[in-house]
Amino acid sequence: MQLKDQVALVTGGGSGLGQAIVERFVEEGARVAIFDRSQERIDDAVKAFGDKVVGIAGDVRKVDDNNRAVAECVSAFGKLDTFIGNAGIWDYSKTMVSTEDDELSSAFDEMFAINVKGYVLGAKAALPELYKTKGQMIFTASNAAFYPGGGGVLYTATKHAVVGMIKQMAHEFAPHVRVNGVAPGGIGGSNIAGTNALSQQGNNYSDFPLDDLMKQILPLERAFHAREYAGAYAFFANRRDNTPGTGAVLNFDGGIGMRGFASP
Ligand code: NAD
Repeated sequence: MQLKDQVALVTGGGSGLGQAIVERFVEEGARVAIFDRSQERIDDAVKAFGDKVVGIAGDVRKVDDNNRAVAECVSAFGKLDTFIGNAGIWDYSKTMVSTEDDELSSAFDEMFAINVKGYVLGAKAALPELYKTKGQMIFTASNAAFYPGGGGVLYTATKHAVVGMIKQMAHEFAPHVRVNGVAPGGIGGSNIAGTNALSQQGNNYSDFPLDDLMKQILPLERAFHAREYAGAYAFFANRRDNTPGTGAVLNFDGGIGMRGFASP
C-alpha cells in the first residue's frame, strides 16, 4: 500500500498502459480519476474499481476538458497528488516517404495535439492542485524518445518533445512539484484491455505479433505486459522511495538500446 491516501489522475486511463497504471495505483491504496475520450472504457473501469475511481470523459486536446477533469477529481477525492499524462496515439502508416503532403501535415498536427499539447494542457490544469499537495507529474514517453524505431518520424518527434518538456517543467516547477517520465518499450501482445496503440491504429503492424518482434529485437528477449511497466509509475509517485527524482526519464524498455555487439 505504498500510495495509501494518495489521489492520482491518469489520462488515457481507460485502456492499455493507462489502465494498468490505474489498476496498480488502486492496488497500492490510491484513488484515481480516469480521464479518457472513450466513455465505454471509463464505464468498464468504474465497474471494475467501484468507488476507488471516478471517470471523466473528455479530450486531452481541449483546455476546458482538462480543467474539468482536474475539477471533478478534486471534487470527488478532495485533492490531487499525482498527475499522469499518458494518453497518446501511434500511427506508423503516415510515413514521410509514403504520405501525401497535406495528409502528412494533418497527421503531424493530430499527433502533436494529443501526444504533446495534451500533456502540456493537462499539466497546466493540474499545476495549482499539485502546488497545494507538493505533488508530482509523471509522463509516458517511449523508447522512441531516445531511439529510432517502429513509430515513424511523427511519433518519434512527439516523444522526443515529451522528454524536453519533462526537463523544462522539472526546472520551472521546482521545488514545489516534481516532474518525471517513464519511457516504456513495446507493450506485448494483448494487454489487459486486449488492445494497445499498435493494434488500434489498423496500421501495417496491426496483425504483427508484437511479442515475437520483441523477442527478436530486445536484449531481454521477450515482450513486457502493460502491468510490468506500471510499477515504475508507482515508484515515481510514492513519497518514500522517490524523494530526489525530478527531471528523470526512466528507460524501461527491455534494453532496446543495449543491443550493441559482442567482443570477438
Ligand atoms: P491505448 O490506445 O491502448 O490507450 C490510449 C488511451 O488513450 C485510450 O483509452 C484512448 O481512448 C485514450 N485517448 C487517446 N486519445 C485521447 C484524447 N485525445 N483524449 C483523451 N483520451 C485519449 O494506448 P497504449 O498503448 O496504452 O499507450 C499509452 C501511452 O503509452 C501512449 O502515450 C503511448 O505513446 C505510450 N507507449 C505505448 C507503447 C506500446 O507499445 N503500446 C510503447 C511505448 C509507449
